[in-house]
Amino acid sequence: MHELSIATHILELAEEEARKAGCTKILDIELEIGALAGVQQDALCFGFEAVSKNSMAELATLTIITRQGQAKCSGCNASFPVQSFFEPCPHCATILHTIEQGEELHMVAVNAE
Ligand SMILES: [Zn+2]
Repeated sequence: MHELSIATHILELAEEEARKAGCTKILDIELEIGALAGVQQDALCFGFEAVSKNSMAELATLTIITRQGQAKCSGCNASFPVQSFFEPCPHCATILHTIEQGEELHMVAVNAE
């Protein structure tokens, strides 16, 4: 399961951050996930609950901020919101574009004590 490996990675990163700050308990982890990142948020939360058992983050809350997809048209250079990779430009209908936003998966903040 894709989300389970992401959850494991997030946990490792968060624990590293918390240890660096001299903390022993992770309270909250804030993530930014793009709508086009291909991550199922429910599955990620569920996976995180599983992997964080008996860790510093056992009771931590996962806060997820969703970033909408945005593309830049290769035909007319307009930027427009997209739900998927294959949406045509609303201005000139070309389907060639570059994704500007929406594929990210970042850990924004770790709140620990
Ligand atoms: Zn266009």
